[in-house]
Amino acid sequence: MVPDRLRRAHNVDGRRQAAGGRRGIRVIVLVCCLLSAVRCLAGVAVVLIGTGFPRPDPSHAGACTVVDLGHEWFVVDSGRGATMRIAATTLDYAKMRAVFLTHLHSDHTAGLPDLFDTSWQFGRQSRPLALYGPRGTRKLARALLEFFADDIHYRRDLLEKHPGAGATIDLHEVSEGVVFDDGKVKVTAFAEDHKPVVPAFGYRFESEGKVVVISGDTRPNDNLLRHAKGADVLVMEAYLPEYFDRIDSAEVAARLKSYHTTADEAGEIAARAGVKTLVLTHLIPGNDNETFRARAAKAFKGRIVVGQDLLRITAD
Ligand SMILES: [Zn+2]
Ligand SMILES: [Zn+2]
Repeated sequence: MVPDRLRRAHNVDGRRQAAGGRRGIRVIVLVCCLLSAVRCLAGVAVVLIGTGFPRPDPSHAGACTVVDLGHEWFVVDSGRGATMRIAATTLDYAKMRAVFLTHLHSDHTAGLPDLFDTSWQFGRQSRPLALYGPRGTRKLARALLEFFADDIHYRRDLLEKHPGAGATIDLHEVSEGVVFDDGKVKVTAFAEDHKPVVPAFGYRFESEGKVVVISGDTRPNDNLLRHAKGADVLVMEAYLPEYFDRIDSAEVAARLKSYHTTADEAGEIAARAGVKTLVLTHLIPGNDNETFRARAAKAFKGRIVVGQDLLRITAD
C-alpha cells in the first residue's frame, strides 16, 4: 500500500513530469516551427556549385549555379561535377524544381546526365525533370534518355522500382521572354551574344521582391544590360585576357576573347546596370581572385564576390 502522502507526492511529481513533458514537446514544436520559418524566410540565395570553365580543375567544377529559395531551388547549367558539389551542400533533390541551360557548350551540360539520374534516384522520385534550354535541348534530352535506357530499365523495373515518371523529362525549348511563372517565381530568358554559339541565354529570376540575374557565357551586350538592371545579384562570367594570350595561339585567343567578358567589362556592366552585388564566375583562369576583384572594382563600387565552388551569397 502506498501511503497517501507518497501517493500525493508521486501524483504531484507525475503531474510535474507530464507538465514538463508537455512543455518539452511544446519547446521542440516551437523550435521546429521557428527553424522551418527561418528556412522559408531565408530569402533568395545564390549557391555557386561550379565556377570553372572547360579545362579540368579539381578546385573548380564546371559551370553550375543554384538559385535557392529555401523551400525549393533552381539550377542554371550543369557542368562537370555538379552532383559531387551538390553532395557537399544541404540541397535536397526533392526540392529541386527545374534546370535551366544557358547554352549547349559542354562545360555547361556535361554534368546534366548525372544530375538527371541522381536526382531521380535520390529525391525527385516521380516528378519528371523540368528542363529548360535553347533550341537543341530536345535533342540533348532525347540522347540523355537513350544513354540511360538500360539503367532506367534496371532501376525502374527490376531493382529499386523507382517511379518511371521521374525518369522522364518535362522539356521546354525556350525563346526570349518569360519561361517560368508560378506566381511566386518568375524566370525570364534573355538572348545573350555568345556567337557563333546561337542561341545562348541569360536568365533573370524574380522572387520575394529580389532579382538574381545569371549571364551564362556572353560578350558584353545591351540586352544583358537591360535585363540586369537593378538586380540584387548579377552572376557574371569573367576572364583575364592575358590567360588566353599565354595559353592559346593568337588566332584562337582572339576568337575566345570575342565571345566572353573580361573582369573589367563585368565591372562596367555591373556599374551601368546598377546592381547591388556582382558575383564573378566561370573564372578563366581560376587561380587569381585578387586580379579579378581589382579589375572589376575599377568600374564597379558595389559588393564584388569572386566566385569559388560552394560559396553561398544571399540577395540582401
Ligand atoms: Zn562556358
Ligand atoms: Zn560557352
